[in-house]
Amino acid sequence: MPDHILPQFIDSTMLNCFRTCNQRFFNEFILGLRPAEISIHLHAGAAFSGALERFYHNFWAKQMDQKTALSQTLPKFLDLWGDFAPSKPTPKTRENMWNAVEEYLNKWPAETDHVQPLEFNKRKTVEFSASVPLDFPGFPRHPVTGDPFIYCGRIDMLGTYNNRTCIRDEKTTGRLDANWASQWDLRSQFLGYCWLCTISGIPCDTAVVRGIVIHKRDILPVEAIKIYGQWEIDRWFEQLRRDLNSIVRCWNEKWWNYNLGEACTMWGGCSFADLCKSQHPERWYDSYKTKRWNPLDRNPIDPQQGV
Ligand code: SF4
Repeated sequence: MPDHILPQFIDSTMLNCFRTCNQRFFNEFILGLRPAEISIHLHAGAAFSGALERFYHNFWAKQMDQKTALSQTLPKFLDLWGDFAPSKPTPKTRENMWNAVEEYLNKWPAETDHVQPLEFNKRKTVEFSASVPLDFPGFPRHPVTGDPFIYCGRIDMLGTYNNRTCIRDEKTTGRLDANWASQWDLRSQFLGYCWLCTISGIPCDTAVVRGIVIHKRDILPVEAIKIYGQWEIDRWFEQLRRDLNSIVRCWNEKWWNYNLGEACTMWGGCSFADLCKSQHPERWYDSYKTKRWNPLDRNPIDPQQGV
C-alpha cells in the first residue's frame, strides 16, 4: 500500500492535474502511482531538452562553435535515451528525436537566435529554476508540516527577445493542430513562470514557445510569442491560492472528487481508469510503479533517479 504524502512542492503540472480531476491528482501525486510503462512523450521530451541544455552549455559556457558543440552533445543525448524502446509505433524514435535537435539548431542557430540567454555576472544563463514559499495572506499552510507550500518551476531558458526579458520553452509534438499557437494564450505554466521570475527580481511578462513537430519523415519547427498582462498574472496567482485551499480541503476531508467525464477518456484514456472502475482500487496498486514527482528534475519521473 503506497504512503499518502501531500507534496510540499507544487508546480504547474500538479495544479493542472488537480484541476482536471482531483482523483487523478490523488493517485499521481499523493500516492505517487505511475503506469508501469514509461510515457514516450515524457521520455522523448526529456532527452530532447537535456540535449539542448548540453548543447547550450557547450556553446556558451565552453565557447565551442556550433558544429563542435552539437557533435559533443550526441553522447549526452544517447545517454539520456538509454535503451528505451517505445512499445507502440511512434514518430518519436531515437533517430527522429536527434534529428529534431539538429533541425532546431538549424532553424535557430545559437549565435543568431533572436532569443539570447540573459547574462548574470558575465555568464549566460540557460536553464533557470526557482522555488518560492507561498507565505502570503490567504494561502494555506501544509497541513502536516505547518510550513508554507513552495511553488517551483524549471524554465528551459531565461532570455531576451526584442529587448524584453522572456522565458523560452520547447514543446515536442506529433502533429501541428490549427490552434497550436493560441493554446498558449491562457497557459497556466507560463503565467506561473512569469510570476516566479518577477518575484525573484527579474520582471518578465513574455513567453517564447517553440514547437518541434515530429512527423515520421520530417521535422517542423514553429514558434509563438505570448505577452501576458499583469492582470492575467494576478488572476493566475489568485487561482493558485484557491486551488491550494481546495487541495488542503480534499486532504483534510480524505475525499478527492472524481471527474467521471471526458477526462476519463481523452488522450487515449486516463491511466487510472482501472482504479476508478473498481470497488476495491487498492487491488490494482500492484500494477503501478511508485515514483514521487520531483518538479525540479528535467524528467520529474526519471526511473534512474530512484523512488
Ligand atoms: S478515470 Fe476519470 S475519475 Fe478516475 S482518475 Fe481518471 S479522470 Fe479521474
